[in-house]
Amino acid sequence: MYDIAIIGGGIVGLATGVKILQSRPDLKIVILEKEYLERKSFLFDFKIIVKTFTNVLFSKGVSH
Ligand SMILES: Cc1cc2nc3c(=O)[nH]c(=O)nc-3n(C[C@H](O)[C@H](O)[C@H](O)COP(=O)(O)OP(=O)(O)OC[C@H]3O[C@@H](n4cnc5c(N)ncnc54)[C@H](O)[C@@H]3O)c2cc1C
Repeated sequence: MYDIAIIGGGIVGLATGVKILQSRPDLKIVILEKEYLERKSFLFDFKIIVKTFTNVLFSKGVSH
């Protein structure tokens, strides 16, 4: 059971989720992303994990 459902995991949807959680960390939020739900597959998940891993590894767009 979620308190808030955000439709669309684009920049606006994700920023909205982050902002809500910053002020209300007690709320449970679900983000429903069309592309993800349609493509849902191990390969798609794997691609996201690899991309995230390499971005973090090479500090691409990540500031410390
Ligand atoms: C080719 C191109 C290049 C761009 N280049 C730049 C740039 O260089 N710099 C810049 O600042 N901006 C750029 N923009 C603009 C930028 O991409 C948009 O302003 C920004 O992504 C809008 O964010 P958003 O969250 O409102 O929408 P989106 O990023 O479009 O996110 C909406 C999300 O909702 C999902 N969705 C849609 N319908 C449903 C549904 N029924 N149920 C669930 N999920 C759904 C979509 O899959 C999508 O992921 C570019 C846009 C394009 C098209």
